[in-house]
Order: sequence, then C-alpha cells, then structure tokens
Amino acid sequence: MPNLQWVPSPNYTEWRQGNAIQKITFHHACSSAASAVNWFKNPNSQTSSHFIVGPGIIYCMVDTDDTAWTNGNWNSNLVSVTIEFEGTWLNGFRNESTINTGVELVAWLQDLYPSAGFNRHRDISATACPGDFPVEEVWTKAAQRRELINNPPKPVPALPEWQTNRKDFVKTMYIAKDGVQLLDLVTLKPADARVFAQNMKIDIGSMTTVGGKTYYITAYSTSKNIGAGYFGGDLLLQPYSPPPPVVDLPTDPDAGKLNEQKLNWIITTLNAIINFFKGLTPWK
Ligand SMILES: [Zn+2]
Repeated sequence: MPNLQWVPSPNYTEWRQGNAIQKITFHHACSSAASAVNWFKNPNSQTSSHFIVGPGIIYCMVDTDDTAWTNGNWNSNLVSVTIEFEGTWLNGFRNESTINTGVELVAWLQDLYPSAGFNRHRDISATACPGDFPVEEVWTKAAQRRELINNPPKPVPALPEWQTNRKDFVKTMYIAKDGVQLLDLVTLKPADARVFAQNMKIDIGSMTTVGGKTYYITAYSTSKNIGAGYFGGDLLLQPYSPPPPVVDLPTDPDAGKLNEQKLNWIITTLNAIINFFKGLTPWK
C-alpha cells in the first residue's frame, strides 16, 4: 500500500452544502507532489485538492466530506473529490509508480463512492489540465483492483485422495457377500442406505486407494466424478460360488474299538503260546 500522509490545507469549505459526491476529478500538478503540498498549505494560494499523488505516496489535504478549492468552478467543487498527480503529463511524460499509486487511491474512492464517475479538470474549466494523464487507464485499473480486493480468487482446493489416486480399471465385478454398501470415498462411511446382495453385477470404471486400501468406482460414478465406491474386499472378479460340500464318508460305528471277537481271538492265541512255552524246559 502507498504511504498515506495527512497534511491539512486551510483552503477549503466545510461540508458540501448537502451535495452528494458525483465526480472524481483528475488534475496534473505541473510540479512535484511536495511542491503542490506546500502551495496548498499556503493560505494565500486560495487553492487545494483533496489528494496529491506522487510515486508511492498519497497526501490527503482536505477531508472528502468537505469542499476543496481545485476545479475553478464552485458547483463542480461541491460535487467532486479532486486528485492532483505529480508531474506535467505532456510530451510523452509518464510515471508508472505515480499511476500505480493513483490506481490504489482511485480504487478506494470507487469503493467509497460507487455511483461517482470521473472527469478531467478541462471538462469544467478553460485549462489543458490534466494534459495526457491516462485517466481512463487509471479508472479501469482501479475498477479491476477493487474487484480483486472485494472478490479475491478462491484458492483451488486440494483434490481428495480418492481423486488423486484414481486410475482407469474397466471391468465387470460382483458383490462378494450380502449386505455390501457403497462408501463415500472421503469419509469411508456408507454413501447411502442401499444394501447390495451377493453376486450383483457391477460395471467398474476406475479404482483408487484411500489410506492404502483399494476401492472400486462404478463406470457411472467415474463418468460423473462422484466420490463413491466399493471397498476392494467387498467385490470379486467373478461371481461367488460356494466351495463343494465336504462328502461325509460312511463311518463304522465300531471304528476305534477293538472288536470283542478279535480280542477273544488274541487272548486265546496268546494263552496257547504261553502254555506251549510253559511245557518247554527252561533255558539254562
Ligand atoms: Zn487541474
């Protein structure tokens, strides 16, 4: 922002006799801003301006609620806010810094007095003032500046993770189990109340990852850029088919038990062997 200095001038009339501000009047000072300030501070000059603009500096010398003695026309003074620009704006003279400082001031005045237009000193009095000062340029740039201040461009929000990570994945997939829900890919909570049944067929248009987990987005949501999809574990590339049932082989109710008949046979045989050995002479 330019440096703003309040240097009051004694040369003004209080208030505006009930008039509203209708014009911003442009002048060139034909001197430095500092010289113009000195001149308007002098009561003998009987002239003033609300503002004097130099490169990077704005002097405010008369309150805009009061009438400055600038335009050489009383009725015009009553309805104008007046600005003097440093320099003699003739023969190609131009100072970008003064222009830019003027743009800041005029933007502020446009905001304060939105119904005011602009004019040049020579539109009111017999004078060449303000020479070739680029009035339209300053007025237009000020309007743009004001628009930028009042409606700054909105920052572009960062893309959510699902959008950043999305890749094309065109496949037909199937719901893996009953009760699967479509998820909001930002909150990872159900996107709506719908519940899908096992083996429902879905056309997938893309896949993405959120928090390191895979999600699949329908072709429709992909085309509409809707942030909803299915958790990877809830979908299959082919319909679910249950594993073949385990065949129960017929079982022997006596399996695991020693057959009583067989046991009797073993006992009888063992006894026979024992008796056989009892009949032998023991070894020596
Ligand atoms: Zn003038």
